[in-house]
Amino acid sequence: MESVASFLAAEHPTALSFEILPPVRGGSIERTLESIRPLLEFNPAYVNITTHRTEVSYTPAGGGAYRCVTAKKRPGTVAIAAVLRERFGIRAVPHIICGDYSRGEIEDQLIDLSYLGITDVLALRGDRERAASVFTTSPDGHNHADSLCRQIEDFNKGRMVDGSEAEAPSTPFTFGVAGYPEKHEEAMNLSTDIANLKAKVDSGASYVVTQMFFDNSRYFDFVGRCRDVGITVPVIPGLKPLTSLRQMALLPRVFHIDFPDELSAALLRCTSDAEVRTLGIEWAAAQARELREKGVPSIHFYSMHAVQSVAEIARRIY
Ligand code: FAD
Repeated sequence: MESVASFLAAEHPTALSFEILPPVRGGSIERTLESIRPLLEFNPAYVNITTHRTEVSYTPAGGGAYRCVTAKKRPGTVAIAAVLRERFGIRAVPHIICGDYSRGEIEDQLIDLSYLGITDVLALRGDRERAASVFTTSPDGHNHADSLCRQIEDFNKGRMVDGSEAEAPSTPFTFGVAGYPEKHEEAMNLSTDIANLKAKVDSGASYVVTQMFFDNSRYFDFVGRCRDVGITVPVIPGLKPLTSLRQMALLPRVFHIDFPDELSAALLRCTSDAEVRTLGIEWAAAQARELREKGVPSIHFYSMHAVQSVAEIARRIY
């Protein structure tokens, strides 16, 4: 199976990808796989599988006391990638994150994936802990994704984290990284953020997948600025169909994105989740149509809680 990077570089009509979140610890894999079935008929170019760091929760321990429990809330990324490939023949792109993991643990993930023949990944720093205000680095972990990119490139050459040399994998990893048309929340400004994005591309990333945006002009400006500083790899737009009233406040707060005036005005007129869902389909379909007309190689859909909406958009666009 060719890599995502090779697929994106080849001539083809605008393709589609989406993401799967592993089920909450102990949840049913079959239910998760069933939930994406409506999207399989659109022949996704690849499917991303997210990775989530350890979370802390407090459970009652009797007598008014609470027990602190730390657990990976959503384990299973690598296994789901393998199931997707084996069962559905889909190109699977598991996410590798720095948060929570030492370099040695990341190396172990790369070894597992390599043995499974899964050599497409998305290299990310990862979100900060939910209760923390800043990202904390694991002992012997990476501060930023560019350094993770370099570890993957080293692995491709057989250079291990302890300095030893190993046999280089027969199929090297190819990987994408994240980009932010409206700037990452921690960046001083968009220029410094794009300079940091360039460091990830210079460290081996073959493509960029953007954070969600609701105003295509932000994406086109971002791509223009990337090209101005010499980022030549594909920049895959990320779209999120809105599905609920609560997202009006939630998405700008969590993802540091703006709704354009026309969309925010329309959202304010909605009185139910059903109305937001209809609006979300119309809006994202219009975005996708324009992006397709401009010839983007693929569109990535943030499909969490929105599989039916993405399917409806795909029916209209593809
Ligand atoms: P970085 O590239 O490290 O950037 C983070 C910040 O640091 C930016 O402000 C950047 O400008 C700055 N920076 C970068 N390099 C340097 C440097 N060398 N020196 C100083 N500053 C630097 N999170 C998850 O936990 N799991 C997921 O599965 C997941 N999937 C995602 C998929 C996509 C497509 C996107 C867009 C995001 C995803 N995220 C995920 C969220 C992501 O992990 C967070 O946005 C995180 O805060 C930043 O990750 P990054 O890889 O962009 O980090």
